[in-house]
Amino acid sequence: MCSLAFSPSPSPSPDPSARSLEELEREICAAAADIAAATCRWLLLVAEFDERRGWAEWGVRSCAHWLSWRCSIGLVAGREHVRVARRLGELPLIREAFGAGELSYSKVRAVTRVAAAETEESLLELARHATGAQLDKLVRGYSTCLAATTAGAQVAYERRYLSLSWEEDGSLRIAGRLPAEEGALLQAALEAAQPAAVATQEPGLSASIGERRADAMATVARSALAGAQPRRGGDPCEIVVHVDADTLAGGDGAAHLDDGPAIAPETARRLGCDAALVRVIERDGQPLSVGRRTRTIPPALRRALRSRDGGCRFPGCTHRRFLHAHHIHHWARGGETRLDNLVQLCSHHHRLVHEGGFSVGRGPGGSLAFRRRDGVAIPMAGRCEARVRRGPVSDRRVDAETCRPWSAGDPLDYGMAVEWLLSRARAGPER
Ligand SMILES: [Zn+2]
Ligand SMILES: [Zn+2]
Repeated sequence: MCSLAFSPSPSPSPDPSARSLEELEREICAAAADIAAATCRWLLLVAEFDERRGWAEWGVRSCAHWLSWRCSIGLVAGREHVRVARRLGELPLIREAFGAGELSYSKVRAVTRVAAAETEESLLELARHATGAQLDKLVRGYSTCLAATTAGAQVAYERRYLSLSWEEDGSLRIAGRLPAEEGALLQAALEAAQPAAVATQEPGLSASIGERRADAMATVARSALAGAQPRRGGDPCEIVVHVDADTLAGGDGAAHLDDGPAIAPETARRLGCDAALVRVIERDGQPLSVGRRTRTIPPALRRALRSRDGGCRFPGCTHRRFLHAHHIHHWARGGETRLDNLVQLCSHHHRLVHEGGFSVGRGPGGSLAFRRRDGVAIPMAGRCEARVRRGPVSDRRVDAETCRPWSAGDPLDYGMAVEWLLSRARAGPER
């Protein structure tokens, strides 16, 4: 059994509203590590209790039922806790990091689904670097590959279904399950239909991903009935913006959408940033020649940008679709439309670095440097060297940094990470 380093943090002051945001953040993060360490300790007790079938003494059906009864935990969560607790006994490295508060329960739950003796060390490495969301996605991808090597594909095919039911309000409820390749086909069709669906919306109203998918589903149905292919491609929809050239270059003048409302100068700069969007530039009400001072990003450059950045580059963001190419130094102020002056951002983060008061620039060595409104740098990565091998667990302190992902903000190449795990799994035990 591992030795558990669990040092409770100093008792918090009773009133969180008296705290500064920095203090709140620090305490939330430190408490998260405390909770992780305590959860590990608790799960090891659960594992021992389960092993000795302590629950059976009470006549309950399982350890999960006992947890529900004595610890107020729902059955589904209880079963998951017991599964994780049992796996901790087989995975000493993950158990140690969990006990030190370095891995959250969420991460441990994910890696224990797929970890084996051959892959434990690699998975621990990935779990330490990835954000919680990245790790979930990575483990899903890896387990799909594992299933693909077994009879999993046939099972997935046999489990396919689509159920349609009319709700009381007249809407149709859809639920279903498709084998991998057909699922990918449906997803591709929905994605292809999405730009058309988005274009039909009022400007400024942002739909959730679920709403956009629902619209896309209707578009797919319409085009299937019309015998036509839904519109392909990820081109941004066309918006015509009228803006003074000096305003676009940083001035304070007016801008408005064609036949539409006035927009903030910074909004015009954002719309113009990924510049396929800018159509008409005027000076003193006189249009300059269309195309002058606009920057259309050539397809080859857009592809290079997509392959370099992979998704939104804002630290911790996981968006990989509907991305904008942001000019770090705006073209209207003389910035060039070149790879090193472009960074991929999702629409939310693109808005943040324009209207939202956040900023992105290049730091020493050309690395990206994001800053908050108050100028504080947002950590990207580079914490790895300082954190690897910090001595025995018992010497480590649990603090606000303990359970933070090591590489938050770095895009993760899921394909490469899964490949690496598969090669480790094939290579045999690491120790
Ligand atoms: Zn921009
Ligand atoms: Zn983003």
